[in-house]
Amino acid sequence: MSAQIIDGKTVAQDLRAELTTQVQALDSPPGLAVILVGDDPASHVYVGNKIKACEQVGIQSFESRLGADASQEEVLAEIQSYNNNPAVHGILMQLPVPAHLDSDFLVQSIAPEKDVDGLSFINQGKLIAGDTGGLVPCTPQGSLRLIKTIKEDLSGLHAVVIGRSLLFGKPMAQLLLQENCTVTQAHSRTTNLEEICKSADILVAAVGRPKMVKGDWIKDGAIVIDVGINRLDSGKLCGDVDYDSALEKAGAITPVPGGVGPMTIACLLANTLKAYNSGAGS
Ligand code: NAP
Repeated sequence: MSAQIIDGKTVAQDLRAELTTQVQALDSPPGLAVILVGDDPASHVYVGNKIKACEQVGIQSFESRLGADASQEEVLAEIQSYNNNPAVHGILMQLPVPAHLDSDFLVQSIAPEKDVDGLSFINQGKLIAGDTGGLVPCTPQGSLRLIKTIKEDLSGLHAVVIGRSLLFGKPMAQLLLQENCTVTQAHSRTTNLEEICKSADILVAAVGRPKMVKGDWIKDGAIVIDVGINRLDSGKLCGDVDYDSALEKAGAITPVPGGVGPMTIACLLANTLKAYNSGAGS
C-alpha cells in the first residue's frame, strides 16, 4: 500500500482563498501586528512570510522590529500600544526572544482577544473548557484541518500525539479530544512508544527528532501528521517520521516540507479574521 499524500500547500491555498473572499466583504481590513526582537535570520524570514501572506489576503500588517538589546519595558510598550490600537486585531510576538527577556510574561501581556498564537492562559483555558470562542494555536489547528480532509468524523479513533509542548502537543491533544478521539499523549518519558504508536489510528509527531517514527511503528491505514521540521547535514528538511518507510504503512501522510508548515500561516490569518469578527479591535 502507498499512502495518500496530504497536500498541505493546496489545503492552505484553499483556506487563504476563502479568507480573502471573507476579508474583501468587510468594511475595514483586519490588522495583524508582528513583534520581532533580535536578529535571528530564521525569525526574520518567518516574519517576512507572515507579512507577505497578510498582504495577499487583504489583512493590514503592522511590524515592530526591535534590536537584540531591547529591554523588557521597550517590548512591553510595543505590546501595550498594539493592545490599545483599534486597527490591530491580532498580535504575534515571534518566538524565541533573546534570553534576557521574560518571554512568558510578554506573551501573557498580549490582550487575550488579540492573542492570535493562542498562548494566553485565557485562550488555553477556553480550549480545555471546550469554549470555541477562543483563539486556538495555529499549527495544531492546521493539523486538525488536514486530518479532516481525510476523515470528517474522528469519533472513537485512537489518536496518539507525540510531544506535549504548549505551542503544539497539548492543544493538539485537546482538539482531538473534542473530536471524540481517545487520546494518548506521549513525551520523552513515555515507555513502549513504539507499541503505543502501533495502535494509533491517527498519529501526530511533534518532537524535533529527524525520522524518529519508523514505518513499522505505524498501524496499517493510519493517518500520520508529521509536524517536525528538522534540517539534515545535507541541508535538506525532514520531519519526525521516516517518510519513505511510513508511506508503505500509512493510509495518509503529510510530507515535510509541504504538509503542516503551510497550514500554520494560513491559520494565523484565520485567527486574525476570527479576532476581528469577535470585536478584538473595539
Ligand atoms: P518542543 O517544545 O521541543 O517539544 C518537543 C516534545 O517532544 C516535548 O514534549 C518532548 O517531551 C518530546 N520528546 C522529545 N524527545 C522525545 C522522545 N525521544 N520520545 C518522545 N517524545 C519526545 O517542540 P515543539 O515546539 O512542540 O515542536 C516540535 C517539532 O515541531 C519541532 O521540530 C518544531 O520545529 C516543529 N514545529 C513545526 C511547526 C510548523 O509550522 N510545521 C510549528 C511548530 C513546531 P518532554 O516534554 O518530556 O521534554
